[in-house]
Order: sequence, then structure tokens, then C-alpha cells
Amino acid sequence: MNLTIGHLYPDLLNLYGDRGNIQCLKKRCEWRDIQAEVVSFEITDEIDFSKLDIVLLGGGSDREQMLVCRRLLEIREDFRAYVEDNGVVIAVCGGYQLLGNYYQTAEGRIEGLGIIDLDTEQGENYRLIDNIILESDLFSMPVVGFENHAGRTNLKNNKPFGRVIYGSGNDGKSGYEGVVYKNVIGTYLHGPLLPKNPQVADYLIEKALERKYREKITLKELPDLEEREANEAMCQRLKGKVSRPQDQMQLG
Ligand code: GLN
Repeated sequence: MNLTIGHLYPDLLNLYGDRGNIQCLKKRCEWRDIQAEVVSFEITDEIDFSKLDIVLLGGGSDREQMLVCRRLLEIREDFRAYVEDNGVVIAVCGGYQLLGNYYQTAEGRIEGLGIIDLDTEQGENYRLIDNIILESDLFSMPVVGFENHAGRTNLKNNKPFGRVIYGSGNDGKSGYEGVVYKNVIGTYLHGPLLPKNPQVADYLIEKALERKYREKITLKELPDLEEREANEAMCQRLKGKVSRPQDQMQLG
């Protein structure tokens, strides 16, 4: 079996090393004798979504999101068709916001793809920065990560990725984080999301294989000893604490 992973615009959307998620997907495929090819796209490249099985859209600053948004609007219908055809997407932070209708900042509105009906507005006073822990119906392990965003996302009627146990999530008040829409996961969890959360990585691989080979796939278990230890250590560290991101960074 084989999978092709498309990395969209890593030169612009690569905050906190989101590309590590690609390495994790590739490695977890290789450990199971699944061939994984990675194709990175620059903003001027044409993308043939019919050749892709997993798409990663990383996070970026407002400036980079603005640059990427222009290009995304040009390829919107191809991207939408891929998603509606159950194409697998992992979209992180700025990338997550761009799947929605818009991201409204003090400087202007960044148009999103409108593939998922959600809206994001920049918070007035402070960024939501901290470690974060979620529980999700999709996974038995807690999902751990790090978030840093000014945007507050209104999920409307969509299904969240998880419930916030520690941290801020979509808007700092709803108690929800991210979105799951068809085979898309959108999340504010940055950087090594997949290395820290092997069950999330395997979920994406499984969905991509099931779509491609049209059969139920059960991936071979991997030991994941270090991954489980790291996950547990983070949960222990934050247990019983309350996240107060506003104490960390006031905006002027
Ligand atoms: N620029 C967006 C925000 O601040 C996304 C940031 C990010 O990708 N970390 O909300």
C-alpha cells in the first residue's frame, strides 16, 4: 500500500515546525511497510488533488495567511471537491482558520476557503498562548499540544476536535477545540501535534488508506513507549492547574 502526502506551502505556513507532522506520518507508515511519498507545494505550483491522500496545511502569521489566502481562493473549488470526496486534511492554526469563512483581524479580513462553515475573529486584548490538553471521542489517549493564536473561532454547528481539559481552545470560553468535518481535522495545536499524539497520526493514516483502498483498515499497533510517556508526563504536569493565557502576554 502507498500514500501520497501533500504539504501545502511549507515555506509560508510552517510555524513551530509544523512540518514535523509530515515526518511523523511518513515514519509511522514506513514502520508498517506502507510507502509514503511527500510532495511539497510552493504557492505558484499547480496542485492535482486527485493524486493526494493526505494534505497538511500548517500555521502562519497574519501576513503569511494573507499571502496564502489569495492562492487558496484560486484553488478553492479543487480543494473543496477533495474534502467533499472524503480527502484527508490536517490543518493547523492559521491553516485551520483558512478552511473557514474568514479571519477578521484589526488590519482587515482574510478570506477563507469557506469549506467549513466557521468564522474567526481576532481577540482584542491578548493571544491565547499555553500548553493545551484535550479529550476527544476519537481517541483513548488525551491529545496534548501547544497553542498560540490571536483568533477566536466560532465553530457554529460543527463538531469539535475535542473538549478542553487545560488551555483555551477555539475561543477561550466554549470549552471546545478544533473541528472535525468529514476527514478533515482543524486544530490550534501547533508543532509536533502528531509525534506527541500517535493516535491522531494513525487516525489520519487509517482514513486515507480506507478512502484509497475502499476497505476497512486496521493498522498494526506500534509500541509508542516514548510517545505515551511524553503524553502522560504533560498530563501530570498540568493536572489540576488552570490556564491563564492573559497573564502571559498583554497586547498594547
Ligand atoms: N495568525 C493567526 C492567529 O494569530 C494564526 C496563528 C498561528 O498559526 N499560530 O490567530
